[in-house]
Amino acid sequence: MPGLMSELGLKPGVIYGDDVLKLFQYARKAGFAIPAINVTSSSTAVAALEAAKEAKAPIILQVSNGGGAFFCGKGISNDGQKASAAGAIAAAHYIRSIAPIYGVPVVLHTDHCAKKLLPWLDAMMDADEAFFKEKGIPLFSSHMIDLSEESFEENIKTTAKYLERAAPWKQWLEMEIGITGGEEDGVNNEDVDNNSLYTQPSDIWEIYSTLTKISPYVSIAAAFGNVHGVYQPGNVKLHPELLGKHQKFVAEKLQTKDEKPVFFVFHGGSGSSVDEFKTAIGHGVVKVNLDTDLQWAYLSGHRDYITKNLEYLKTQVGNPEGPTKPNKKYYDPRVWVREGEKTMKTRVVTALQDFNATGSL
Ligand SMILES: [Zn+2]
Repeated sequence: MPGLMSELGLKPGVIYGDDVLKLFQYARKAGFAIPAINVTSSSTAVAALEAAKEAKAPIILQVSNGGGAFFCGKGISNDGQKASAAGAIAAAHYIRSIAPIYGVPVVLHTDHCAKKLLPWLDAMMDADEAFFKEKGIPLFSSHMIDLSEESFEENIKTTAKYLERAAPWKQWLEMEIGITGGEEDGVNNEDVDNNSLYTQPSDIWEIYSTLTKISPYVSIAAAFGNVHGVYQPGNVKLHPELLGKHQKFVAEKLQTKDEKPVFFVFHGGSGSSVDEFKTAIGHGVVKVNLDTDLQWAYLSGHRDYITKNLEYLKTQVGNPEGPTKPNKKYYDPRVWVREGEKTMKTRVVTALQDFNATGSL
């Protein structure tokens, strides 16, 4: 694969605007997607960045509403979404500071924002506006708005309003249509009717035609049977080939030879097969959200370290080597937290490989 950085002129660190557009256009054409990693701490951000560096690939780091609150600290109230906003903004500044050192382009994104969480998005966009006034760029590369639980009309209308605000900063906006099953961040869709789990091509066209009149920096998370979280294989089936039908429908409406005019996002990637990813990516998915599998990977390193070294972790002094032996080098967080970073990094490297992104820089 030719080098993204030399060919597109992408620079290491957080990218925005036309660089994100170029990256997604390139990925869509070349047939790869970029994993979007939910980060909740400096440690998980570091694990994801390290994976991208090792795999020589771009990466998307995203902060969810709950992740922002955790970044800020769970010991304080999240009244008015203030902690979620402050934590996400702090994460953005942190990632902006360290990303260039890793030598990879990073898309700095925020995850699902349902209607009741809009004050969170408003506060982050206030920070974008202030950053833009000072530096000519938005703080975040992109945001996500998820009004898929509201009526179709309200979803488009409100999404368009936010896109109008983001457009002068060339900020990306990802929207969701249709229902992603499962449970995430307090939104429980485990019992919805199967028909609403699959988006229709005419809906995609209406969204595409409305939003791209405002700004080209738009992607759609369409439902094709996706589920947030990992469950026993159930009655909902993934149909990533539906995305191909959407692309064809939109291309015909546009009368374009471009076979993949839409940027799609794959939500609820955890637990899906590599074949399902590859089919979706072939139909214009440029971003795949991975969270649950990475939570599991991050835990694995800590769990295995603690299980293996348990006799060194029961008291500050005294272990199988002697009653006066100190255990400090075993309980130092830089040792055991690091083990989780390593296992999470390995899982992100696998995702980059599964999504054909490895070696793309
Ligand atoms: Zn979603």
